[in-house]
Parts: sequence; C-alpha cells; structure tokens
Amino acid sequence: MIVAIANQKGGVGKTTTAINLSSALALRGHRTLLIDLDPQANSTLSYVDQKKVDRSVYDAIADSACSLSDVIQPSTQEGLWVAPARIGLAKLEAQLVGDLDAAFRVKDKLAAVRDQFPYVVIDCPPTLGLLTVNALVAATHLLIPIQSSYFALEGTDDLLETMDKVRLRANPSLKMLGVLITMHDRRTSLARDTKLQIREVFGAQVFKTIISKNVRLEESPAYRESIFSHAPNSTGAADYYSLCEEVMARA
Ligand code: ATP
Ligand code: MG
Repeated sequence: MIVAIANQKGGVGKTTTAINLSSALALRGHRTLLIDLDPQANSTLSYVDQKKVDRSVYDAIADSACSLSDVIQPSTQEGLWVAPARIGLAKLEAQLVGDLDAAFRVKDKLAAVRDQFPYVVIDCPPTLGLLTVNALVAATHLLIPIQSSYFALEGTDDLLETMDKVRLRANPSLKMLGVLITMHDRRTSLARDTKLQIREVFGAQVFKTIISKNVRLEESPAYRESIFSHAPNSTGAADYYSLCEEVMARA
C-alpha cells in the first residue's frame, strides 16, 4: 500500500499524519518507508539529522543515476525508513518543466524498492504542483487530512479534480483511502458543525477516527519524535493508533 497524504491547504496536519501513521505502522511490525516530498522537510526533521542528508529524494527524482535506495536512511525508529527531503526540492519543479516523464519520476524510482516495504507513506507539500502529482501517480491510495475549522472544505474540489485527472491519464487504480478530520476540538460547536459538514460531503469516506487537538501532538516535532515515543499515553497517540488500525483494515 502506497499512501499519499495530500491537501494543498497549508497546516492541516499532513506532516503530523505522515509522521505518526508511518510510526504506528512500523510499531505494528510492518516495514514502512516515509517519503518526504515537501521541500520544507518537516517529516524528515522528525526522524533524521538534516546534517546527515547528503543525498535527498530530490537527487533520486532529478538524477537518473541516483536510485531511491541511495537516499533512503534508517530512522530513529526500528522498522521505519525515510527518504529525506532537503530545501533543494523546491527547485525541482522548475527544473523538470518540459520533461514528458516528469510526473512519473517517483513512481519509477519507487518500483525498485517497492517489495521491501509493504507500507509507503508520502508526505506532500501544500500545493497541487508537480511533487503532489508525482505522489498521486505513484500512490495506490490517497488520504486527505481536513482540519476541523472554518473553510475546512475550501480547495478539496481542486484536489479531487487533480485526483480524477491522474486516474484518467496515469494511475487508474488510485483509490481514496479516506478523509481524516484533524485538530478537532470537541468542546466547540464550530468543530461539531464542521464535522457534520465534512461527513455530509464525504460520507463513508470519512475515517471513524477523528484526530483531536492535542498539545502533545503539537510539541512532538520539536522533540524530533513521533507521538508514540514522545507521549505514548496521550490522546494523540491513541488517535493515531486508531487511524493506523483503520488504514490497515482498508488496505
Ligand atoms: P504544511 O501544509 O505546511 O505542510 P501540514 O498540513 O503538514 O502543513 P502539520 O505541519 O502537520 O500540517 O500541522 C500544522 C501545525 O499544527 C503544526 O504546528 C502541528 O504541530 C500542529 N498540529 C497538527 N496536528 C495537531 C493536533 N491534532 N493537535 C494540535 N496541533 C496539531
Ligand atoms: Mg507538512
């Protein structure tokens, strides 16, 4: 299963979900690869020392002589490997303009390591540009995190349209894994209304698991840890563990 975590809206919990879902899958005993396609490199920073990243997923995409296994590093967690990002990834989109296979780079490179990892999680940048399209072309499934707040559904039409285009032209078997409500604050009526609205639009595609707003989740990247090592008894850990169960059941 190759899960692209995408939403072009910024700050909705893509990276938090990528970090903690991949960690949960590894804890459940599945060899898991986390690919960081975001030039901000936030997922990478949680698991590998940026100083030790001499070659990144950028090189694997841009350089035909560099394979994904040349850039994959073990993470601080057993069973979890990371294809790290680095700021240079931002230049890539401009560099690939005009290449007919530009959208297929990640898929092609992933093919060589695919059978080593039953689960691959791809963290996307907050755009619908070439990097996100590469993730959708390579993925078997799309997971869309939606922040439980005002304008929660803003932009999801464009994302679904992009998904349809990718299905039509490049990856017909791409499936919707689910829509994940994130940063939910049970105490507010706004959050309750938003939850209902998201369920109205996406129906059964919405995961039963809802990720609550949780301080432990918010601070864990600063400690460069997943929620499972930072605060194993937090609601954040319970929420992401429960998401992992649902993801495995939908695989
Ligand atoms: P970007 O679009 O910039 O890549 P993103 O979609 O990856 O952002 P995150 O980086 O995961 O979003 O989350 C945005 C911010 O919200 C971060 O500071 C993160 O720590 C915080 N955050 C994410 N999920 C939660 C949560 N459930 N409770 C509290 N804070 C959270
Ligand atoms: Mg992010």
